[in-house]
Amino acid sequence: MQQPKQILKEIYGYDEFRPKQLEVIEHTLSGQDSVVIMPTGGGKSVCFQIPALIFKNVTLVISPLISLMRDQVEALKASGVQAAYFNSSQSDFDKRLIIDDCLENKIKLLYLSPETLVHAFESWLKNIPVSFIAVDEAHCVSMWGHDFRPEYGQIKALRSHYRNMPFMALTATADKITRKDISTQLDLVNPQLFLSSFNRENLNLAVRSQVPKKQKEKEIINFLHARQDEAGIIYCLSRKECEKWSSFLNSNGFNARHYHAGMDSSNREAVQDGFINDNYTIICATIAFGMGIDKSNVRWVIHNNLPKNIEGYYQEIGRAGRDGLPSDTVLYYNYRDVVLLNDFVKDSEFKETYQEKIRRILNYAEATSCRRNILLSYFGEFNEEPCNNCDVCKNPPEFIDGKTIAQMALSAIMRTNQQIGVNLLINILRGAKTMDLFDHGYHKLKTYGVGKAHSFVDWQHFMNQMINLGLIEIAYDDYLKLKVTQAGDEILRTSKPFQLSKPTIAKKSEKAKNTKKVAASNPDDALLDALKSYRKGVAQQNKVPAYVIFHDATLTEIASRKPKNEFELLEIQGMGKVKLDRFGGMILKLVDENRSPNKKSKKSTIDETFTLYQDGLSVEEMAQERNLSPTTIYGHLCKLYEDDRPIDLNRYVTEFEVNQVKQARKAQRNTNQLRPIYDQLKGDVDFHKIALALTILSKYH
Ligand code: ADP
Ligand code: ZN
Repeated sequence: MQQPKQILKEIYGYDEFRPKQLEVIEHTLSGQDSVVIMPTGGGKSVCFQIPALIFKNVTLVISPLISLMRDQVEALKASGVQAAYFNSSQSDFDKRLIIDDCLENKIKLLYLSPETLVHAFESWLKNIPVSFIAVDEAHCVSMWGHDFRPEYGQIKALRSHYRNMPFMALTATADKITRKDISTQLDLVNPQLFLSSFNRENLNLAVRSQVPKKQKEKEIINFLHARQDEAGIIYCLSRKECEKWSSFLNSNGFNARHYHAGMDSSNREAVQDGFINDNYTIICATIAFGMGIDKSNVRWVIHNNLPKNIEGYYQEIGRAGRDGLPSDTVLYYNYRDVVLLNDFVKDSEFKETYQEKIRRILNYAEATSCRRNILLSYFGEFNEEPCNNCDVCKNPPEFIDGKTIAQMALSAIMRTNQQIGVNLLINILRGAKTMDLFDHGYHKLKTYGVGKAHSFVDWQHFMNQMINLGLIEIAYDDYLKLKVTQAGDEILRTSKPFQLSKPTIAKKSEKAKNTKKVAASNPDDALLDALKSYRKGVAQQNKVPAYVIFHDATLTEIASRKPKNEFELLEIQGMGKVKLDRFGGMILKLVDENRSPNKKSKKSTIDETFTLYQDGLSVEEMAQERNLSPTTIYGHLCKLYEDDRPIDLNRYVTEFEVNQVKQARKAQRNTNQLRPIYDQLKGDVDFHKIALALTILSKYH
């Protein structure tokens, strides 16, 4: 019998087990049941696949998602494992072939969807000797989980038939009731619980609160510019928002698609496939996206709104960085989200539970201590050390005496009879001259203008904290009006000291400093590109996503270590024996071709445009030469110009036109948006020229 560790190396190409994997495997090999809870990307598959390879007969894997099933089976086959899946999407002929293979004991792992299970079991399946049963996404069996699927109820029937073999339930969702319910619903026998840490250190956590729409757009554009060609997902609450974001990003030169439940299934599939195969990198999606995908190189996740609970949020950010490389997550939220979410659940029979969950995620969003520790404590893990990879740790708050500030705010709320929302309150405190304020006579209040010394943004920061600390409540069911709580009343009327954290200026993107590819020190870009395009070819030939062939991390390691022979190649993480046989020769050849000593390292895409510019090509010619759109080329030119490279933008836009844009911009309240300027000029100057003119104006004027 082969040892688990040997299999890990030969099939998967990994040297070491991750925490808990080996224990789970050995427990199963001894014939016992288990419940395995690991975060997304934690490495659950190995836990059941290795025992399956050791057991004599077939292992059944129950899994609800056809696309995931297919990916896992393809990945196993690529590593030389006999695996197959069986689901309702297949033709009778295909099914027949699989059944025959099973009857001849040619299959080690058979994946089944729950709805095919009962029928299969009543007919051919019962004649086949089975060794072990694994139930993936096991939370689907529980009403308490967040994704209950009635078909999962069928699995229990298996237990009575397969009495003497190990069952394993696997999930990434960990709350206690669900955990217990899983073992009841599946009739597990004395299952051992394996709970691996939910800490995903490679995910950077950041939250942005109450950011106005325009600024949010700007921030996201900057964020994406720093991550050209890196795949990511923007999660939105509504379908409309998905579509808006995707068209906004496309009009800014990015390659984005939307994805939501309102699209027909062939459209959805096309979008998903395009993302998986790296044809486009940005998906604006409702939470429906991501369930069925295993893409390992998602580098970032943005939430456009507050998610409805921490479980869902954690799963969604967990879709980034499954390959273990540094990845970024940003959550944007504002109080409107809270109103909307509460509105969704107000008629539910579980209203209270849902509302409590909304409160918990809001607390997370408003935290002034390490965010990761808050998340981990939600899942029952307690950590004292700050993580140093969240926005709070990187920019820890400094505390100041907040007594006067709090009293100003609290007394202004009281003096308006608790009838106003946050923005109006801040305007009163800052002595603003707005219509609604005068209409209500609020300019006559004693507190009018007492808080002038602090900016609007600072006040927002203080208000968030006071709400978070429970001095003030927001009436979500009453137009977001502010109410002073008992704790607030105490601050207002007593001399009890009170501290607030000082507003901090958000640091510039941390990206350049800290992240970038821990796995490999210095990958050769040209080699990496060559490896990726080789991988793409193989993937297309086999009709599977690229990451099924090799993960990015594996290619990156090859591109930096440049193995000279098969032995060295086998040292690379993710390179198993079968893959070495199938792809090793070609990979070594590519490495060799890229070894020539004086080879120029690959230029960045912008530098390539610069070379063509220096050669005197027109924009159209450059676009054609580079197989890019003219819009992208214009974008490159602007960037080069901003970076102080010797670029003469007046080749493409005249002084006169720049002046026209300048005037139109002024008439449009100094907007930096193209559309209003274009309209103002009645279409006289085209969009590209406006963009160029704005670049020039923002530099010198
Ligand atoms: P999950 O199903 O828990 O979301 P997977 O089983 O898909 O996670 O594993 C996530 C990634 O981690 C995969 O790319 C897998 O190959 C990799 N992985 C699993 N176990 C190990 C290990 N022991 N060493 C290195 N990588 C591993
Ligand atoms: Zn932290």
